[in-house]
Amino acid sequence: MPIYEYICPKCHIRFEQLRSLSSAEEDADCPKCNAPSGRAISKFVSRSKSDFGMLDHMPSSGGGKSCSGCSSTNCSTCG
Ligand SMILES: [Zn+2]
Repeated sequence: MPIYEYICPKCHIRFEQLRSLSSAEEDADCPKCNAPSGRAISKFVSRSKSDFGMLDHMPSSGGGKSCSGCSSTNCSTCG
C-alpha cells in the first residue's frame, strides 16, 4: 500500500499513513489528538517515495500508463 501524508489541522504535525488507493482521500486520524486530518499536498515527498517503491513492484508489461502526478493508472489526472 502507498504511504500518504496528512497534516493535522490542530497540531499542524505532519504524519504518514499507509492507505489503500481508495481510502487515500479520506481523512486520517492525527496520532496525537485524533483530529481528522486531510491529505498533505507535498508532491515531492510522496512522489519520490512512491516512485521509488512502485517502480520495483510495477510490472512494466501491460501498457499501463501513469500520469506524471501520481503513481497509479487511474487517478483523476491520468485521463
Ligand atoms: Zn493533532
